[in-house]
Amino acid sequence: MTALSDSTAYIARVAFFTLAYLGTALISLEIQGNHDGITPIWPPAGIALFAFHRYGLRMWPVIALGVGLLGLHTGIAPISSVIAGIGNIGEAMIGCLLLRRFDIQIGQRFQDVVKFLFLPVLLSPLFAASFGTIGMILGGIGSWNEMYIMWFMWWVGDACGILLFTPLLYGWWRRPKLWSTESRLIEWLVVITFSMFIGWHTFTGKDVTTLHGAGNLQFLVMPFLLWAAIRLGLRGATLVSLICCGWVLWGAANNTGPFEMDNKVAMGLFESSFILVIALTGLIVQALFRELTLNVKQLRNTHVQMEDRVRQRTADLEHSNERLRQEIDAKALTTNALHKSERQLYKAKHMAEQANDSKTRFLAAASHDLRQPLQAILSHTELLAINNSNPKLADSIEQMGRAGTSMRELLEKLLGVSEIDAGRLSTNLTVFPIDHLLKDLQGQFQQAAREKRISLNRVPCSTLVYSDPALIRIILQNLVSNAIKYTEHGKVLLGCRRRGDLLRICVCDTGIGISQDGQQIIFEEFFQLDNPARDRKQGSGFGLATVQRVADLLNHPLHVQSVPGKGSCFALDIPVSEKQIFAEPDKADATSSGDSTTASTLLLIDDDEIVLHANSLLLKTQGYHVVAASGSETAFDALATGLQADVIISDYRLPGAYTGAELITELRTRTDRLTPSIILTGDITLSDDNAGLPDRCQLVQKPVLPQKLKQIIDQILEEVT
Ligand code: ADP
Repeated sequence: MTALSDSTAYIARVAFFTLAYLGTALISLEIQGNHDGITPIWPPAGIALFAFHRYGLRMWPVIALGVGLLGLHTGIAPISSVIAGIGNIGEAMIGCLLLRRFDIQIGQRFQDVVKFLFLPVLLSPLFAASFGTIGMILGGIGSWNEMYIMWFMWWVGDACGILLFTPLLYGWWRRPKLWSTESRLIEWLVVITFSMFIGWHTFTGKDVTTLHGAGNLQFLVMPFLLWAAIRLGLRGATLVSLICCGWVLWGAANNTGPFEMDNKVAMGLFESSFILVIALTGLIVQALFRELTLNVKQLRNTHVQMEDRVRQRTADLEHSNERLRQEIDAKALTTNALHKSERQLYKAKHMAEQANDSKTRFLAAASHDLRQPLQAILSHTELLAINNSNPKLADSIEQMGRAGTSMRELLEKLLGVSEIDAGRLSTNLTVFPIDHLLKDLQGQFQQAAREKRISLNRVPCSTLVYSDPALIRIILQNLVSNAIKYTEHGKVLLGCRRRGDLLRICVCDTGIGISQDGQQIIFEEFFQLDNPARDRKQGSGFGLATVQRVADLLNHPLHVQSVPGKGSCFALDIPVSEKQIFAEPDKADATSSGDSTTASTLLLIDDDEIVLHANSLLLKTQGYHVVAASGSETAFDALATGLQADVIISDYRLPGAYTGAELITELRTRTDRLTPSIILTGDITLSDDNAGLPDRCQLVQKPVLPQKLKQIIDQILEEVT
């Protein structure tokens, strides 16, 4: 069906174009009759090129039939027809190839018009002119002498035919809609009417006007040609050109019009030139305006797109502005909330600080009142233990003693931590041999280790360190105490290792160890691993909190390494003193000297009757000769009796004019002796610095264990002797 309709369409097209070819050829031949055998335009060349370009080379029968039928009609020799036919087919093929090769869009752009003019219009007719001229001469039409002019006129005629008819067909082929508005229709009518009229007047005007030369008004068509080219495009331009051409040919056929002259060759050339100029002008102008219109359209599109984009961007911007505004509002709200919580936080901090201060003040106040009775309990318990002869009570007394001791330890630790927190603890840095301290600690904890059947060893060390010995003692005491507490088998080892400018002091044990998670939290207050029920026998949970605080105060790094089930190693890095004087470590293990009870005389001063009584009894039991005084006056009275005290032990806060320190100074002045003295106080705010201690006077905090007090007194007595 398709094949059938295709071939029918093909045949129809061939028939149509053959008829057009033949018809226009016959008109041209008619004109040739009046032009000595030449024609100013050969339309079949343009019709053939359009057919070839539009429907392909298979349209060759159009030319073959056209030329063949023309030959029959004119009766020229077959050889002439064949050669002219070949020339014409070649011309159409060359024109078509040039159009395709150079991608020439007929009448579209200015450059297309230029290319069209120089390639298919001027180049391809060279082929037809050459073949046609030779064919005609061979067929006996014309002689070789006339060959040049024949060739030239053939070339010009074909060029005119292509220039006018190919664009004309392109413009009008399958474009049914001529006008879209009424004004456009009017324009069409005006242009056609005036072109027709001017053509008629110009090319038949010889007889119409009486003025000489009034017929040479062919230029009048120009405004209408330009109008058509600008306003009506390719179709308008080619139609006006066709009308002009038609009138030119009419004039030529009827021997009228401005080109009429005796020299027919010159007449033909004038006519051809006119047709070429008209057709080319129309094509160029319409192409230029077409491009201009397209550019304007593009520009307008771009403008519209840009406007759209600007509108879109403006909308986006407004949107972002709105969002920004919302964010700013939200931020303002957050800032307000932040300020509010800041104020609340500040208030809470202030309250916490106040609470902390109150706590510290309370502890300071309470400590003195707690320490005094505790001292009495400890002293009386010791007395009871010494003087008890009833075995049934022995266990209860021992329990009482242990409870008192543990209460004292807890109080010490609690006060220690609160003192550090209150920033009361000051550092007193000095150079000292670390081995002395380690040796002391070994001695202090040897008994506890022995009780648990574990060994407590110390590796001697000769290094001098720079730190606060009292604070280092607090740290190491806690560490050694823990090591013994949490070790059931094996040993605890005290040792040092030099690490550049630092001395690492290690307290290692083979105890229960601490898990990795546990190592992160053991330094928090009250924290005890595996002791959620807070069994006080296992400790208070204050030890490591104190250690960490003191280490921080001294700026000494603290480390812990531990493997559960294997043991732990706590280490403290202390700066090594720059002045290292070789200090021979004491190789002998520290064991406190046995009972060196002497009949030394102690002057004991305390305004608290119970404490005075208990301590007095205890010290007497320990073998000292004790003179008890409840205040400064009683002490002076004792002196008046000729008392020569070996050691003065006085409470710090006494009623009357003197503090303990001042009383000691006064007593020394009155006896004229520098009696070694001890200030025994429960006031935790007192330190060696602020108590105003005289020379050779030692500050001892209450409550002090009876054994410890004895140890201190003996040491003082030893130094005196
Ligand atoms: P406590 O008074 O309970 O000993 P500490 O603050 O001194 O309080 O110690 C906190 C916790 O750290 C202890 O309860 C214990 O679980 C753990 N700990 C401390 N030292 C050791 C150690 N040498 N071996 C095993 N565990 C330890």
